Amino acid sequence: MTTLSFEFFPTKTEEGTEKLLNVRDELAAYNPEFFSVTYGAGGSTRDRTYAIVEAIQERGIAAAPHLACIGGSKAEIREILQQYQELGIKRIVTLRGDLPSGAGLGSSELRYANELVEFIRQETGDHFTLEVAAYPEMHPQASNFEADLQNFVRKAKAGANSAITQYFFNADSYFYFVERVRAMGVDIPIIPGIMPITNYSKLARFSDSCGAEIPRWIRKQLEAYGDDSDSIRQFGEEVVTDMCKRLLEGGAPGLHFYTMNQAKASLDVWKNLV
Ligand code: FAD
Repeated sequence: MTTLSFEFFPTKTEEGTEKLLNVRDELAAYNPEFFSVTYGAGGSTRDRTYAIVEAIQERGIAAAPHLACIGGSKAEIREILQQYQELGIKRIVTLRGDLPSGAGLGSSELRYANELVEFIRQETGDHFTLEVAAYPEMHPQASNFEADLQNFVRKAKAGANSAITQYFFNADSYFYFVERVRAMGVDIPIIPGIMPITNYSKLARFSDSCGAEIPRWIRKQLEAYGDDSDSIRQFGEEVVTDMCKRLLEGGAPGLHFYTMNQAKASLDVWKNLV
C-alpha cells in the first residue's frame, strides 16, 4: 500500500490559519496517513506549531509535529513531549533544525537529531513513532556523502521508525541512497519528500540553501518560461508526476508532499498517480 502524507508550516495570521484549515479539509478527503507541521528551531514557532497540530487532530486526522533540538533545552523539549502526549499525538518528525545564521547555538543541550531520537526514547519509551530526515543528495553541511550515510544509520539505530527525505528531482539519488543504507543494515521505510513545482525563483532560492539539485534540463526549461506561471505549473506537474511514478514503481513505500500550505499542486500530482 502506498502511504500519503502532507507537510504544512505554521501560519502567522488568523486569515492564514483559516485558509490552511480549508486546505486541510481538501487534502483530508484523500485519507492521508498524517499531516506534519514544521517547527522553528530554537522554539520560534512553538505555540503556532502547537495550534495547527491541535486543529488537525480536531479534524480526526493524525498530526505529526516536527521537533528540532538545536537552540532548545532538554527541559523545554520534555515539556513539549508532555503536551503532545496529552493531545494524543503519536508521531513526531525528529530533527536537528536550522537556526538563523548568527543565532549561535542558544541553549542547545542536544546537538544532532540522533541525540534527540535517543532523548525522546529515554523520556517516552515507544509512545511516539519517530520520523527522521534523510538526504539522498547529501546534507549540505555533511563533511562527505559517506559521513552523512553514517549519520543516517546512527539516527535509525537510535530508534527512528521511519524517514522522510529532503526533496530531490532525480529518482536515482533516492534509489542509490536506499540501496546504500540497506547494505548498512537499516531497513526502516524511507519516504520520498516531494516538492511540487509552482514558482521557479522561490524554488531555486530554497534549493540552493537546502542542497537540493534542480537538474539543468529542468532549470533551463523553467527559466525559459519567465513569468508564465501556467506553463511552469504544467511542466512542473509533468516532471514531478513522472518522477513519482518511477519512485513508486521502484519500491518507494509512499510519498510525503511539501505542500507549502496549498492543496492544488500536490493534488494535481497525486491524482495522476492513483
Ligand atoms: P542531523 O541528522 O543531526 O544532521 C545534521 C548535519 O550534521 C548533517 O550534515 C550530518 O551529517 C551532521 N552530523 C550529524 N551528527 C554528527 C556528528 N556527531 N558529528 C559531526 N557531524 C554530524 N528544519 C527546521 O528547522 N524545522 C523543521 O520543521 C524542519 N523540517 C524538516 C523536515 C524534513 C523531512 C527535512 C528533510 C528537513 C527538515 N528541516 C527542518 C531541515 C533540517 O532541520 C535541516 O536540514 C538541518 O540542517 C538538519 O537536520 P537533521 O535532523 O537532518 O540533522
